[in-house]
Amino acid sequence: MITAQPKAEVELNKTNMKLKKGDKVKVITGKDKGRDGVIERVYNKMNTVLITNINVYKKHIKKNEKMPQGGVVDLPRPLDVAKVVLICPKCGKESKIGYKIEKDKKFRVCKNCDSKI
Ligand SMILES: [Zn+2]
Repeated sequence: MITAQPKAEVELNKTNMKLKKGDKVKVITGKDKGRDGVIERVYNKMNTVLITNINVYKKHIKKNEKMPQGGVVDLPRPLDVAKVVLICPKCGKESKIGYKIEKDKKFRVCKNCDSKI
């Protein structure tokens, strides 16, 4: 948390991250290229997003109290935002996100169909 900065500056710093939890995105590069999923978590500082069932790695667990046999679990890892594009909920296409300001409120728009998203 950056609390020392005035609010306006904090807002500015956030503008890199255009994606939000619940957005549907498509992976454009890497091992899950071409797949789509819904954003589960957004990590603003890291510029990464966690997407359901995307970028899942097998993790080997050593024997412990919970898993006396040890085992392999699926562990989703966050993906860089540069590796995904938003799928616009209105036009269903891969879209770039723009911003518009109306009555002092900033909202996201799809650059493809100009809808609020
Ligand atoms: Zn659109």
